[in-house]
Amino acid sequence: MMYSADADGQEHPARPDGGPPPKVARSSDTGPESLRRRNMALVARTLLHRGPAARSEIAHATGLSATSVTKITAQMARARMVVELGAVCGGDIGRPRVPVALDTSYYRFVGIHIGMRRITGGLLDLAGNVVVEHAVTHRGRTRKAILREARELRDQLRVLAGGPDRILGTGVATGGRVDPHTGVVVDHPLIGWKDVRLRDELDIGDHPVFVDSSVRAMALAETYLGVARDTRSSLFLFIGNIVGAGLMVDGRPRLGHDAAAGTIDHLPLGRSVDGTQCRCGRGDCLAALGSDVAVLERARRAGLVRPNASFESLVAKSRSGSAEAAELLRERAEFVGIAAGIVLDLFDPDLLVLGGGLLQTPEHLDSLRAAAADRLSRPEAADRIVPTGLGEGALVRGSGSLPMHSFFSDPVAMLRTPTGG
Ligand SMILES: [Zn+2]
Repeated sequence: MMYSADADGQEHPARPDGGPPPKVARSSDTGPESLRRRNMALVARTLLHRGPAARSEIAHATGLSATSVTKITAQMARARMVVELGAVCGGDIGRPRVPVALDTSYYRFVGIHIGMRRITGGLLDLAGNVVVEHAVTHRGRTRKAILREARELRDQLRVLAGGPDRILGTGVATGGRVDPHTGVVVDHPLIGWKDVRLRDELDIGDHPVFVDSSVRAMALAETYLGVARDTRSSLFLFIGNIVGAGLMVDGRPRLGHDAAAGTIDHLPLGRSVDGTQCRCGRGDCLAALGSDVAVLERARRAGLVRPNASFESLVAKSRSGSAEAAELLRERAEFVGIAAGIVLDLFDPDLLVLGGGLLQTPEHLDSLRAAAADRLSRPEAADRIVPTGLGEGALVRGSGSLPMHSFFSDPVAMLRTPTGG
C-alpha cells in the first residue's frame, strides 16, 4: 500500500516551533557513521514502502534491533523526517502500538518536466504525494524562452514550498537523450535542443539539482510510487510524443555507456504504413509508427482531424464514434505491442509498465497485449504488461523522484537538519 497523507485519515500538522531547525556540520563518511546513515536510509525506505508502521514492524522488516530502530526513529523525528501517529490498541499482548510515519508536513521535493508543449512543475512531500502541481504552456519556442519559463516556475515552487530550507532537492526531466552525470540535454530533436546545460541553467546552489530523461525519471517513479514497487526489475515503456524505455534493476536505473540505454526510436517493427517514413529513412521504426505525433500525422493525412489538431482531439474523435479514428489508434496500440514483445524477450523484466499518450485509449490495451504475445517467444510474458500506476501528477512524480531517489539512498547527505546523537 502506498502511504499518503489521507490514507490514515489525518493530516500531520506543522510543528509548533515553526521555523527551520538549526543546521549542523556533516559527520564523516566512514565507520559507524556510515553504518548509521545506511540504517537510516533503510528505515526511511521501509516507511516509504509500507506506510506507517510500529517500531516492532520496522525492526522485523529491516532486520535491525528494536533498540536501533527506536534510536534511529528518534533521530529522524528530530530531523523532521518522521512523526509519531496516535497510539493504536490491539496486538496479542494488548499494549498500544505507536506507529511512526514519514513526516509529510515539512520537507518538499521539487519536480519540473519540460515537455514539447508545456512545462509542468510541482512539489512532492516525503512520501511522494503531489502537494502542488502547475502547468504552463510554452509562450515561446526558443531555448531561451523555455529556460526562462522553467526558472520562473522554479522560483514560484520555491515560494510555495515555504522557502529554500524546506526543499531537499530539485529534479528536472525532459525528453530526448539526457546525461544525468553532466546535467546536459545531449539531444532533444522535438524541441530542437542540442548540448543544453540544463542543470547549470537551473541550479542556484542552495540544494542539489538532478537532471535526467523523462522516461528514466518515470521508470524510477514507478518503482518508488507506482506499480513496480515490489519488483526486482521493471521496464517502463513510454509512448507519447516521444518514445523510450527505462530499465530498472534492483532499484537503480540502467544508464548504459553513454547514458543512452532505452533509446528505441528506431526499433524496427517489421511493419509499415503507406506514406510513413522515419527521419532515419526507414519506414518501420517505433517512433515513426507508434508515437502520438506519428498517429496524429496519419490522422491529418487521412483528413480525420484539422491540420493543427492536437492528439487529444483525435482521441475525442474516436470516442465520438469515428471508426476510422478508432482504427488508427488501435493499429498504433498493435505497433506498440510488437515493440513491447521485443523488449520483453530481450530483458524479461518482472513487469513492463506502459505510460504516455498511449494510455488515453485504454480500450486498445488488449490489441497491444495480443500483438506482443504474437511476437514473443513465450506469449504468456504479455500478461506482465501493465499500465502506469503514477496516475494524476505523473510528470511531477517522475521528475520529483530524481531527488527522492537520492534522498532515500542517503537521507543524511541531503538533510538540512541534525540527525546525530
Ligand atoms: Zn527511424
